[in-house]
Amino acid sequence: MSDPNERDPMARFLVSAPLYRQTEMAEALVNKYPATGASYVPMPQTVKRECVSCGAIMSWDIHSASYTERADYGKLHVVSYTCRNCKGSFSVWIRWHTLDGKVVFEKYGHVPKFEVNPPKRGSANSTGRLQKTNANYSKRRTCRVCPSKSNSPPTY
Ligand SMILES: [Zn+2]
Repeated sequence: MSDPNERDPMARFLVSAPLYRQTEMAEALVNKYPATGASYVPMPQTVKRECVSCGAIMSWDIHSASYTERADYGKLHVVSYTCRNCKGSFSVWIRWHTLDGKVVFEKYGHVPKFEVNPPKRGSANSTGRLQKTNANYSKRRTCRVCPSKSNSPPTY
C-alpha cells in the first residue's frame, strides 16, 4: 500500500514518524515572523491518516488557530487534526531545530497511540499484563508484613 502522504513529507512525518528519532526535513518551509525575525514552519492544513472509527484512510483537517498552525523554532509544539468524517481527534507533539544548516524534526508524542491492529478486549496480552501486575502487588505486601525483608529490593 502506498503512503497516503507520499506527496507531503511534513504530513508524512506527523502521521508516520516514530517517536524520539531526529528526522531531517529538507522540504520544510522555514518562514520568519516579520516583527521578531523568529523562525517557524507552517503545519500542513490537511493530512491523510487511517481513522480507526471510520475504518479507512481519511482526510484530517488542522485545528485552526494561529498557535497550532505554526511550529516555532526550538519549542515543543502540539498540532491537532480532526477527522473530516467522524470529527475524531489526532494530536502530535514535535520540536524542530537546525543542525549544520539542516532542518531537523523530532516527535515527542502521538495521541492516540499507534494502532495498526487495535487489540481486542480480553485478549491474551491484556490478561497476561494484568496477572503480572497482581503478582508484583503480592510481593510488595509480603515485604511490608516481614520487617527483615523490607529493605531488600523487589525481585520480579
Ligand atoms: Zn473518522
